[in-house]
Amino acid sequence: MNFQKVEFKLSAASPEQFPKDGIPQIAFAGKSNVGKSSVINRVLQRKKMAYVGSSPGKTIHINYFLVDEAAYLVDLPGYGYAKVSQSEKARWAKLMEQYFAAGLISLGIFIVDARHAPTKNDINMAKWFQDAGCPFVVLANKLDKLRKRDIEPNLDRIYGDLDLRDTDILIPFSAEKGTGREDLVECIECIARGEPIVTE
Ligand code: GDP
Repeated sequence: MNFQKVEFKLSAASPEQFPKDGIPQIAFAGKSNVGKSSVINRVLQRKKMAYVGSSPGKTIHINYFLVDEAAYLVDLPGYGYAKVSQSEKARWAKLMEQYFAAGLISLGIFIVDARHAPTKNDINMAKWFQDAGCPFVVLANKLDKLRKRDIEPNLDRIYGDLDLRDTDILIPFSAEKGTGREDLVECIECIARGEPIVTE
């Protein structure tokens, strides 16, 4: 799959706009500021495809990037930004419910902060993916900010708190350094080919 060949396809704010063309949708979710845009940019090896540092909570729509005509990277709106109004929270929840209910997700990529225990919202979000029944990959991002000796205990805590199953995959990741990119790309490529994810 040629990740250089990417185009911004559309921004969806309602279910009629979700593409239903059979191309696998790889859905990226995570709380505001966890590095979701940076992860997508790292996968694409671009600096500014997904917009980093865009005012958190302001963008309640779903952005679709089409890679090599083979898969959509779907940038779901972030959550957990404190200054968001009730009405914006409600819009977020409605759009996310509509997207998950549409049954379009081929692979869920859920990003958490490798440094911290998952929040209540993170635990709920993981459950949405697990209930969706799609293959599920968790990225523990910002790994570069952890001391070496904290890596393993933190990953264990994320695994436990998110109640990950044997079939779920946890990848230590750094959007900043590129750590974990190859493993993530492999997962995306398997799904784009319509194959199950094989891990060692
Ligand atoms: P988003 O709100 O989830 O899309 O997060 P952004 O991609 O905008 O990133 C939020 C901040 O975290 C930015 O300042 C990024 O440069 C920083 N960031 C993202 N990923 C990493 C990472 O792996 N390591 C470090 N050190 N910083 C990161």
